[in-house]
Amino acid sequence: MRYVSTRSSATGASTPAASFSDILLEGLAADGGLYVPESYPRLDTDQLEDLRTLLATEGYAALAAEVLGLFIDPEDIPPADLRRLTERAYTKEAFGSEEIVPVTHLSPDTGLAIGHLSNGPTAAFKDMAMQLLGVLFEYELGRRGTWLTIVGATSGDTGSAAEYAMLGRQGVDVIMLSPAGRMTPFQQAQMFSINDPHIVNATVDGVFDDCQDLVKAVNQDAEFKSRHHIGAVNSINWARVVAQVIYYIAAWAQAITSSAQKVSFSVPTGNFGNILAGHVAREMGVPIDRLILATNENNVLHEFFSTGVYRPRSAAETLATSSPSMDISKASNFERFVYDLLGREGARTRELFAVALASDGFFDISGTPEFASLAERYGFVSATSTHADRLTEIAHLWETEGALVDPHTADAVHAARQILASATDREGGGPATPVIVMETALPVKFSQTIEEATGITPPLPERFEGLADADRHVVEIPNDVDALNDLIRRHTGR
Ligand SMILES: *Cc1c(COP(=O)(O)O)cnc(C)c1O
Repeated sequence: MRYVSTRSSATGASTPAASFSDILLEGLAADGGLYVPESYPRLDTDQLEDLRTLLATEGYAALAAEVLGLFIDPEDIPPADLRRLTERAYTKEAFGSEEIVPVTHLSPDTGLAIGHLSNGPTAAFKDMAMQLLGVLFEYELGRRGTWLTIVGATSGDTGSAAEYAMLGRQGVDVIMLSPAGRMTPFQQAQMFSINDPHIVNATVDGVFDDCQDLVKAVNQDAEFKSRHHIGAVNSINWARVVAQVIYYIAAWAQAITSSAQKVSFSVPTGNFGNILAGHVAREMGVPIDRLILATNENNVLHEFFSTGVYRPRSAAETLATSSPSMDISKASNFERFVYDLLGREGARTRELFAVALASDGFFDISGTPEFASLAERYGFVSATSTHADRLTEIAHLWETEGALVDPHTADAVHAARQILASATDREGGGPATPVIVMETALPVKFSQTIEEATGITPPLPERFEGLADADRHVVEIPNDVDALNDLIRRHTGR
């Protein structure tokens, strides 16, 4: 399996095709595009049945190795090594259950099930990809005899998932910036309680954008960057997408009783990372009916799927909502879907993302045949929710089902209900495919909203007990690139 850029044309490709391990430690392709496989592997009914059996008999890690093997040549990473790596990433200890991603059903009349993606070390679905990335990075750095200093900025979720994934991994150090006093107490406790010389938490006197600007500035100095081996754990990393494909297959396999049976997924969406993996699974032939894209008030993507116009917003136009991990202005993985939608033509993708967005601030494909057939061909439908909708969903699920969901998952529940209601209207009440709502965080991470909706305090999972009182390991730096450079120099000793 070779990887190409979403902006390279088939003839005279501007970025040569690369292997999985070549792109593992990289960010964007040299031409500014995102790496995608040259084609998606296709699974027939027998293979799907085999994967289901594998999950049932040998477990999630075995399924994960098998799916990764479809995207990674054996000469690149041998299958036996993949199996060893997935066995280390997806353990019962880290994810709290043998299933890793359990699926639970709400009462039958709802037509809903929940895919629990958030039982990992930081109680958010980002652990699903990050835990695998940690072992893959360690493996690849070891093979190449080198090391990496991950320098990142976080407003909460991504930073902690990255730290817990890289903790104890040979050859990887993490320096993570966060805005002083702006993360939730839970997020701060989670990150700052880590006591390891290879993980450095630094709070910056500023806001998240200041942290991000500091990281950008450090990356602009090529000499400094190469001396200190500075890298990142971007949301556009292809390995993260593949890691997520695995749980779409696992969730489907658990929810159905025969391999031809279809399910739909409802996915709370920000950067289009999670739902992109659902799209890839569907393209591979996994029986997925609808992909329901759920947004909050920052509904850039709902706007695209309903009108054909993609108009990223400025930071100032991006609202702070009660589902903060979906408060995005532009969706960094979206280009990969548009590339597929446009028949995988790099030149057209480049025209939209490198030319139209840069000059006009938006693009409009509403008049194209590709947009006209989008829903039918790719299964996408979208919906949006408000703070009040999320509170209603949280309260309703709690009262009727005794199920507590976080505000991001509530976005997806709301979207699923809307889509199910309109499908029933259209088809005269015939049975719709069951919808698996992807749960992306545990309620405990957003207890304030849970209390507002239900009046109860979400339970603290056992593994987080004592976290709030643990010693803090964090340094403070001013909002100044020299201060960050100094911190990096002292840390690497170079
Ligand atoms: C990151 C995140 C999302 C959005 O996921 P994308 O892959 O960016 O679409 C949704 N919910 C939670 C809790 C998250 O942490």
